[in-house]
Amino acid sequence: MTLKLFNTLSGTLEDFVPSNPPKVKIYTCGVTVYDDSHVGHGRSLIVFDTFRRYLEHLGYKVKFVRNFTDVDDKIINRAKQECKHFMEIADRYIARYYEDMESIGVKPADVEPRVTDHIPEIIDIIQKLIDKGYAYVAPNGDVYFSVEKFKDYGKLSKRNPEELIAGARVEPGEGKSNPLDFALWKRSKAGEPAWESPWGEGRPGWHTECVAFVFKHLGETIDIHGGGLDLIFPHHENEIAQAEALTGKPFARYWMHNGLVIVNGQKMSKSLGNFVTLKEIYTKYHPDVLRLLVLSVHYRSPLDFSWEKMENTKKVYERIRQAVEDLKLLKELPTFEEDLGGLHPLYSVIKETEEKFFKALSEDFKTQEALAATMELISEMNKIRNEAFKNKKISRQSLEAYEAAVNSIKNTLRNIFGLLEDVLPRCPVSQVVKRELEPASAVLDEDLINLLIEVRQMARQKKAFDIADKIRDSLKEKGIVLEDTPFGTKWKKA
Ligand SMILES: [Zn+2]
Repeated sequence: MTLKLFNTLSGTLEDFVPSNPPKVKIYTCGVTVYDDSHVGHGRSLIVFDTFRRYLEHLGYKVKFVRNFTDVDDKIINRAKQECKHFMEIADRYIARYYEDMESIGVKPADVEPRVTDHIPEIIDIIQKLIDKGYAYVAPNGDVYFSVEKFKDYGKLSKRNPEELIAGARVEPGEGKSNPLDFALWKRSKAGEPAWESPWGEGRPGWHTECVAFVFKHLGETIDIHGGGLDLIFPHHENEIAQAEALTGKPFARYWMHNGLVIVNGQKMSKSLGNFVTLKEIYTKYHPDVLRLLVLSVHYRSPLDFSWEKMENTKKVYERIRQAVEDLKLLKELPTFEEDLGGLHPLYSVIKETEEKFFKALSEDFKTQEALAATMELISEMNKIRNEAFKNKKISRQSLEAYEAAVNSIKNTLRNIFGLLEDVLPRCPVSQVVKRELEPASAVLDEDLINLLIEVRQMARQKKAFDIADKIRDSLKEKGIVLEDTPFGTKWKKA
């Protein structure tokens, strides 16, 4: 069965043929580590983790690289707010990221490079781009990629550079000669992280790191480059421009993008207050429920997240889990011999389910259809189980067929979909941890804290100290400590 994949670059379904089978080289853009991972990150991580497991199941030897962006404006701002070194912020959120990934069953990548460990490689790429005439040093010391020098610019996002220029503008203080040009190197402001370079002290722009990581850990052309739909433009377009300007070869042969997560029909954002972190989800649901929700939607479609959907998915998850766990109870029932005159009918359902499961995955990784096929098998298993529980006995033939079905689920839902890892191989039901914890207290987001600090400042100016103190004390109760410094009020988590 040939795997067909939708390639964003060609805009069509293509047969997946790696350049050097059985090896497959995959790179996906990872997280910027300035805050906890949210459900949008979770979706991308689950999709590509599952896809990697599937390729491995097909017999490919996958080398998978996923980065951490550990220096960036958002990290620097967070460090300033908390009066901490930026690396402390990055290290904290990398540690918290690993907790999330372990919960959700996302395997570590084979290489997980960080920007701060690859500055010489990044500088080398920028220097080569300058030498080849694709990049220039602006009067303010920033280095930019000159988009008009790369004739294929726009080929991934299907955008026309001339139309893009019409809508773009140069911000004050930028030294670009063309509004579409993007920064490869930025001169650092006082107090910001900085590295020595041929163009003065500064730090890399965002778009060069992925090219440096791919060249160093995978080579000049990779099989699959993945990421969320929102990265196509400008990030992935800019990666292509830099890499292909240097090598003259395709940077990635297949570009695979997952759809975005919306929350109750709206874009997820901190200001709308609908920002859902993975940690919040785990306090309410077993992480497998999120994994199941993600895989029950085709990876290229939008995923509309809601707590109601989580609740419905939980019911489906429990149905699957129960079917697997009940094998133990069925084995405790008395057995008898049954004359079926042939194989137990459940075997043909298992075979059909597996055929449908793998066919769905081979057609642009339709995990939702693969799951639907598995649910049909579970319905048949439930019929056998219900009858056995009613009669308080089970035929040896039914029990063997039921066990074969559980083994089939182990092969598909556990090994490939990454579900049920705490159930399979079976452990006594009493030891299965139920993660039905109390819901987390409402999480205060940063914008709200900053707003409260502003209101408190206004109250103090009007000498309404009782109101100011009330705000400070209430925040403290929620674990946010305010510190009045000569530079204004700072906050930190207690
Ligand atoms: Zn990237």
